[in-house]
Amino acid sequence: MIISVASGKGGTGKTLVATSLALSLKDREKVQFLDCDVEEPNAHIFLKPVITRSEPVYIQVPEVDDRKCTYCGKCAEVCAYHAIAVILKQVLVFPHLCHGCGACSYLCPEKAVSEQGREIGVIESGYSNGLGFVQGRLTVGEAMPTPVIRKLKEQINGEGIVIIDVSPGTSCPVVQSIKGSDFCLLVTEPTPFGLNDLMLAVETSKELSTPCGVVINRAGTGDGKVQEYCAKENIPVLLTIPLDTSIARLYSRGVALVEGMPLWKESFVELFDSIQEIVHERSRSVKR
Ligand code: SF4
Ligand code: SF4
Repeated sequence: MIISVASGKGGTGKTLVATSLALSLKDREKVQFLDCDVEEPNAHIFLKPVITRSEPVYIQVPEVDDRKCTYCGKCAEVCAYHAIAVILKQVLVFPHLCHGCGACSYLCPEKAVSEQGREIGVIESGYSNGLGFVQGRLTVGEAMPTPVIRKLKEQINGEGIVIIDVSPGTSCPVVQSIKGSDFCLLVTEPTPFGLNDLMLAVETSKELSTPCGVVINRAGTGDGKVQEYCAKENIPVLLTIPLDTSIARLYSRGVALVEGMPLWKESFVELFDSIQEIVHERSRSVKR
């Protein structure tokens, strides 16, 4: 069972939900936690893992052999990212724009392009208080989180429950993180901004054919439009967390909600049971 915890909007409490869900389930199932928010991983603050392994992530960028190159311009023509340019008798490569797709080396008629690995981030893995833990870190100044996320997801061990902490937004890194999940838990807040970004996140999960449910954080603020939207779209609201300064205090001290307030554990276990029911019901109806 792979559960992605996402939010269209940053700062909604996604990591609070993801870490508490993982910690609530670890005594009952094998749990692996993946922090796919590789531009700013912060689940480690709450889970305090022991990192036992660190592995660099590379993308393949082109290197041109001037002795073979005829400056025909084909490589620049096929590069969708403008990462390679041919100016008179010079081929310029812009490594930070290169997505490592390999098109230039594949299509170079002179076989003048070879590929060199360029480090863009790191995968760190270890354990945390009974949980398997893996996080990706994109090197500061690098622009492409997706290859790091792809590499990070290769670490999924396929046992028990996998909880994925997804980056905010609805762009490529989010799609890459959610892809292949059994369920997408969307964390939002009951404000017009929260609703707007929730709607985008719901569209993303529909595009990926991943069933979703909602957690409303900081309930009691804003308006009732998020609930109205969920009811209209038939999206279950699976958990509501009130606006509470004690929760905010725990968060600011780097204490997971269910560790600072163990009474919440039961709510997260119930949340998981609801997710499991939805996923099983869906797989039954697909078989029918
Ligand atoms: S496609 Fe090959 S031969 Fe043509 S300019 Fe690029 S590197 Fe040179
Ligand atoms: S590998 Fe792809 S993205 Fe990079 S320079 Fe070549 S064509 Fe462009």
